[in-house]
Amino acid sequence: MDKQMLIGSQFVSGTETEETIYSPRTGETVMTLPEASVSQVESAVDAAEKAFAIWSKTPPAERAGYLLQIADRIEAEADGFAALEALNCGKPINAVRNDEIPAIVNCYRFFAGAARCVPASAASEYMAGHTSMIRRDPVGIVASIAPWNYPLMMMAWKLAPAIAGGNTVIFKPSEQTPFTALKMAKLLADILPEGVVNVVLGRGAAVGNALINHPKVNMISITGDVGTGKKVIQAASQSVKRTHLELGGKAPVIVYDDADLEAVVKGLRVFGYYNADQDCTAACQIYADVRIYDKFVADLASEVSKIAYAQADEETNEIEPLISTRQRDRVAGFVDRALEMPHIEAVTRGKVHEDNGFFYQSTVITGALQSDEIVRKEVFGPVVSVTRFSEVDDAVTWANDSDYGLASLIWTRDVSRAMSTSARLRYGCTWVNTHFMLVNEMPHGGLKQSGYGKDMSQYALEDYTVVRHVMIAH
Ligand code: NAD
Repeated sequence: MDKQMLIGSQFVSGTETEETIYSPRTGETVMTLPEASVSQVESAVDAAEKAFAIWSKTPPAERAGYLLQIADRIEAEADGFAALEALNCGKPINAVRNDEIPAIVNCYRFFAGAARCVPASAASEYMAGHTSMIRRDPVGIVASIAPWNYPLMMMAWKLAPAIAGGNTVIFKPSEQTPFTALKMAKLLADILPEGVVNVVLGRGAAVGNALINHPKVNMISITGDVGTGKKVIQAASQSVKRTHLELGGKAPVIVYDDADLEAVVKGLRVFGYYNADQDCTAACQIYADVRIYDKFVADLASEVSKIAYAQADEETNEIEPLISTRQRDRVAGFVDRALEMPHIEAVTRGKVHEDNGFFYQSTVITGALQSDEIVRKEVFGPVVSVTRFSEVDDAVTWANDSDYGLASLIWTRDVSRAMSTSARLRYGCTWVNTHFMLVNEMPHGGLKQSGYGKDMSQYALEDYTVVRHVMIAH
């Protein structure tokens, strides 16, 4: 297994505090990895700075060629990447192999194409005797910081638009999930010119903090907790760095009385619990019309009670454990506090799985009110709450009554209701009669405290480039 960081063209080990990486499936230690020192972070920034001079001038078609090679290599080594991600995160290996890797490969391929056709206004004589043109140039040196829930995919979402746009990058994976980033470091060193991407390891408070405060870093791209995003904004204010923030989320799901209930329940069984709901778009905050509430809750409870987890045969698991005991205990805390309320009940499961690993049972909580913590806070675990409504206005108002603004869902057979509700929802994405369908051509990103950075799509390329005006007097 690859253990070393990539700084310029050198593979080096960190020299500071050792981080223990556990198997979430068994709870056993897999490896310890030392984090980077301040001087190693310094060297990575220097390597990115040196590479920027050439990479930023490399023609888009050539940059695209590198991205296509990266995509091909990930595709060729898909089994190795899937095995590492499954080991590090406890994910069902089939989900990584069949859902995540193809989307990751496609992400690099999309940005290879997008780099070559960046849209802008046409050059023209907007003032007599002068020609104006728009340039879209790279921002510079990007510090890219990723979370633990989709390590390889978040790396793709960050690296592909950044390097497609001509930037150079220092990438830091989550301290809990570095395995696929270290394998990527090897692959990237084989393909890219020296210093275009550097990979450093370490905790947020140490290595992350050194990166976001580094005077030579021009842009910070982070996917993580809202609190971490606020620290990034503070650090960025010191030297006015550009920020790309993808923060927490909790997706409200409005189920109208005319919805295809079978499809809703089938969808929620998969996408209310996908990745054990450690997902900022998790469909976990349900508002169900009072006229269908009882049947919906009964059907959902019955489906969710069948979700397979913690099976010895990895191929049969539908959901994984939580990433750590800390995360599992945090989820348990949310459920335990909810169940102390007299109006709330867990209609399936609702407990820590005691036998092995960091599993929490897939759980449905019913009777929750808009004011309850379980409805308002990001649980980031396999727990879905259901709240009943009788007025459409209440459902939409409650769905919008959130600090988060990443994803939302509507289930209805009525097109005008779907259109009017989606126009009112204040979320970066609204899915109607489906969930979690991400495509590289469309943006993913939030409103409100979910942040404002867009991943995927041409909009990500815009985020990682700056608009410049060049005017020439005739
Ligand atoms: P986190 O904020 O704890 O950590 C994210 C990354 O930031 C890690 O690499 C961490 O080391 C680093 N970090 C932490 N403190 C830092 C600091 N002071 N300075 C610099 N870097 C620092 O989040 P997490 O627990 O890894 O991930 C879960 C969170 O991420 C959830 O809130 C989830 O909603 C969010 N998330 C959002 C999206 C999205 O697209 N909006 C996607 C995935 C995860």
